[in-house]
Amino acid sequence: MKEELQKKLEKEFREKCPDCAARVGEEHEGGCDVERCTVCGGQRLGCDCSGHNSFESRWTGYWPGVEECFKRGWFSRMVPGKGLVPCDGEHPEAMADLNRLAYFQVYGEDGIYKEK
Ligand SMILES: [Zn+2]
Ligand SMILES: [Zn+2]
Repeated sequence: MKEELQKKLEKEFREKCPDCAARVGEEHEGGCDVERCTVCGGQRLGCDCSGHNSFESRWTGYWPGVEECFKRGWFSRMVPGKGLVPCDGEHPEAMADLNRLAYFQVYGEDGIYKEK
């Protein structure tokens, strides 16, 4: 990862989960709305997949998916009148593109920006 991006990622770091206050490396409390389901990739709160691994989805210091987006180079920014558009990670307004990642996790392809 480029140094610029590394620095940007470091700014996203939170020692505790913003919802349940689990520390880095700790599993989320039940009912935490940050925890992701390791089976379907959705919010764990509100899904009841069996086989969810709460250790694997423990708080890492980053919002779920943020690190993955940085590694993949998936960023977007808000453009007035257009909504979120993909952009380079070094753009000052770039944010991790969690929608793109969610689509990828659900459909198995990077298709969110494909023409419909
Ligand atoms: Zn939590
Ligand atoms: Zn699930």
